[in-house]
Amino acid sequence: MHNPLFDALFAPHSGSSRPLLITGSDVVTYDAFLKLAARLANALVHNGAEPGDRVAVQVSKSPEALALYAACVQAGLVFVPLNTAYTPGEVAYFVEDASPRILICDDSGREALEVVADRAGARLMTLSKDRSGTLMTETLGATDAFETVRRNPDDLAALLYTSGTTGRSKGAMLTHDNLLSNARELVTAWRFTAEDTLLHALPIFHTHGLFVGCGVILLAGGTMIFLGGFRVDEIIDWLPRASTMMGVPTFYTRLLEDAHFNRRLVTHMRLFVSGSAPLLATTHGAFERRTGHRILERYGMTETGMNTSNPYEGERRAGTVGFPLPGVELRIVSQSSSKPLPTAEVGEIEVRGRNVCKGYWQRPEKTREDFCADGFFKTGDLGLVDRDGYVHIIGRAKDLIISGGYNIYPKEVELVLDELEGVIESAVVGVPHPDLGEGVIAAVIFSAGSQFDQAGLLQAMQNKIARFKQPKRIFVVAELPRNSMGKVQKNILRQRFIDTFET
Ligand code: ATP
Ligand code: MG
Repeated sequence: MHNPLFDALFAPHSGSSRPLLITGSDVVTYDAFLKLAARLANALVHNGAEPGDRVAVQVSKSPEALALYAACVQAGLVFVPLNTAYTPGEVAYFVEDASPRILICDDSGREALEVVADRAGARLMTLSKDRSGTLMTETLGATDAFETVRRNPDDLAALLYTSGTTGRSKGAMLTHDNLLSNARELVTAWRFTAEDTLLHALPIFHTHGLFVGCGVILLAGGTMIFLGGFRVDEIIDWLPRASTMMGVPTFYTRLLEDAHFNRRLVTHMRLFVSGSAPLLATTHGAFERRTGHRILERYGMTETGMNTSNPYEGERRAGTVGFPLPGVELRIVSQSSSKPLPTAEVGEIEVRGRNVCKGYWQRPEKTREDFCADGFFKTGDLGLVDRDGYVHIIGRAKDLIISGGYNIYPKEVELVLDELEGVIESAVVGVPHPDLGEGVIAAVIFSAGSQFDQAGLLQAMQNKIARFKQPKRIFVVAELPRNSMGKVQKNILRQRFIDTFET
């Protein structure tokens, strides 16, 4: 194979007049997209990029932004997408870490990033457009012919930073083979074909939007309705033209809050996928009652791509993330002894397969810590495999609370809280406690129509969960701190209530 990822995802569509992207009133065909990518590849090379170099990209979602990914793959460069919400100070951290040859930003970001690029010795390029929205020639190479650079399956295709939910983001070194093998499994598991149109409202700087969403569509030769972000009214407008949608749980809860979202809009759809954060069983049920569709939940991460999925055919079980994908081995091990645990016991989830990345960029120690000698990767997530083989995610290992010598899984407490009258959502964390080591506290979003009564809530928990697991204090909050993928940032919550039991 000459460039595994390019040859599978992009090259087969050369000359095709089929639509790849639909954005508002514009349609970008595969052919136009590939020509744009080739011109960008020429520009990257012209600006000094050589095979193996990193190219960091902080640009808003657009066909050009996706074409930059294709350009990097074609030119044998390592694509480093950065969250568009990052401030220049945050970008500086990633640029210093990744040491890219080139940093690409939108026009509006140029001034602020000049110093950042300069300090890191990176060349700054902007994705400048003229008034009509056409890319300026300075960004584009002169021709749309580009000779694809040869790559090996284990060469890096992307350096993708984790979301930073539990601490500082780490760069996962993803190879051609990691990305390609995972996309192939998903196309098969979720039955993607060239007939599919994916409603794509996710960002393209994470695994979910880029390698899963765009990856399966490119591989299958389908079409994407490429939206800048998630807006309920836009989704409702576009749903009639889509066949599939991928989202984070908040997409689904927000759709359900809208009275215009109804069964008629989605009867023709064939698949709704959710991931990146837990989908509440209540959302699952409400979505099914409203639409007749059962959301398919899957589990993955930056370092591994997708690990498990509920079945396309067969029971999609709420509160679980389904079965390991073909080619992914999954085991549950004891946190203390690292020994595999029997069915239904909670431990750390480890996975092995072609999907698992090469390691963390410039973090040999962290790589040694998280990548076992036998090839398994420690996900940092706690879970169990039930008797029927379904994988359940219990939470993050780092969020486990040890109070008075007892292990307490926040999710178990949250599930009980969420059932109580007036509680819309909850998050449970452990904070320092003078006697217990850690004390359990809960932050809840409370319904405006109900009267908050802490004693009443605690009373209502009495018969549902052991006393030591019950929160010592419950706080009402307007919202839970979340990152851009909708994940609750427990470290921020913990920090906020750190002094609760200070004496
Ligand atoms: P960091 O590693 O920097 O703390 P992060 O783990 O949030 O950030 P990602 O790689 O984007 O970064 O997220 C992967 C994590 O998301 C998984 O380890 C898991 O905790 C969570 N996750 C993904 N899908 C699901 C799901 N369906 N249910 C529950 N959790 C999920
Ligand atoms: Mg992580």
